[in-house]
Amino acid sequence: MAEQAAAPGPLPVVSFLKIPDKGDPYLEGQECGGCGAIFLGERETCSRCGASGRFQAKRLSDRGELYVYSIVHRSFPGVEVPYISAIVDLEGGGTVKGNLIGIDPDPEKVSFGMPVEVVYQIAPRKDAEGNEYLTYYFKPRS
Ligand SMILES: [Zn+2]
Repeated sequence: MAEQAAAPGPLPVVSFLKIPDKGDPYLEGQECGGCGAIFLGERETCSRCGASGRFQAKRLSDRGELYVYSIVHRSFPGVEVPYISAIVDLEGGGTVKGNLIGIDPDPEKVSFGMPVEVVYQIAPRKDAEGNEYLTYYFKPRS
C-alpha cells in the first residue's frame, strides 16, 4: 500500500518520446558525433556525413518554429478533420513532424516560421489491450 509500484503510466506513442520517472516528458534525438546533425529514431549511419556508430542521445528543445504544414481534410474513419499536419524545426536542432493544435486549421491564421512549442497529452484512443499512450502536439507560442 505504501509504494506506488506497478502504477503503469502511459506508454510513449513513438520511440523518440521519452517519459522519465521524474520530470516532464521530452523528445529525444540522436546527434551525430561527426557533423552534429540530429535525427529522430535509432540509426547507425549519418546520412549527412556518413559517420557510423557515432550517435549520442540528445534531449531536444520543446520550442521551435513551424517549418511547413498542410491542412488535412480527409483521414481515417474516426479521425477528426480538418487538422494541421506540421513539420517543426526545434531550437538547437531536430526536425519533428506532428499535428499543430490550438489554432484554427485556416491558412489565413497559420504562418511559416511561427513560434510553436511541444505539448504532451494522453492520446484520445487506447490500444486493443487498453494501454494509454502519451503523444505530442505542437501549439502556437507567443
Ligand atoms: Zn554526421
